[in-house]
Amino acid sequence: QAGVSRSVAVVTAYLMKTEGLGWEEAYAAVRTAKPDAEVNPGFQGQLKLYETMGCTVDSSSALYKRYRLQMLTERYPELQDLPREVFAVDPTSICQTPNTEVLYRCRKCRRALFRSSSILSHTEGSGPTAFAHKRGTNMAQLCGDGREKCTSYFTEPVQWMEPALLGVMEGQLLCPKCTSKLGSFSWRGEQCSCGRWVTPAFQIHKSRVDEVRTLPVGNFQTAKT
Ligand SMILES: [Zn+2]
Ligand SMILES: [Zn+2]
Repeated sequence: QAGVSRSVAVVTAYLMKTEGLGWEEAYAAVRTAKPDAEVNPGFQGQLKLYETMGCTVDSSSALYKRYRLQMLTERYPELQDLPREVFAVDPTSICQTPNTEVLYRCRKCRRALFRSSSILSHTEGSGPTAFAHKRGTNMAQLCGDGREKCTSYFTEPVQWMEPALLGVMEGQLLCPKCTSKLGSFSWRGEQCSCGRWVTPAFQIHKSRVDEVRTLPVGNFQTAKT
């Protein structure tokens, strides 16, 4: 059964990529040719994600990271260890941060905590889904609009968080150097100040960190909104 479901999902994904179809259209086309073809809800979720990502799998995209975390959360109570790839590399162990990235440091002790690529942005407001399934979703909408109302950064887990995350459902996130409180996490999810539920949630209060831009003066800078 799982094998059938997987092969149907592969054919559906192939049609999406080659014919430029949305996942529902592609799935309908497969079922027209083979009426008993069926994909389970897990594969349907993956096909929707594939469509949202424009039929490419970019493992560094926020959508992919959030999806992977959500899949992990569903299995969490049985998980003893978290897969290594879930954690972002600790910024203190990277010699050079890419120019386009902003580094966030503990406001108190200046310890580097995470990079802008670790921020998993969400759309403002409330709703059951973590990301829009509509075709042609405006990426700017996903990344920009919520900033002013959100008082926290929601990030992917970073390596220094690991000891705090294992074996518990929720807790505080403390600076690994000076132990001042930075935020909190919950595998069940937390609500952002904008009203949006984020599951799972790893949130760092904006007031506890400073942005450090690594760009030389005069170069292109990302507009701050
Ligand atoms: Zn928010
Ligand atoms: Zn600190």
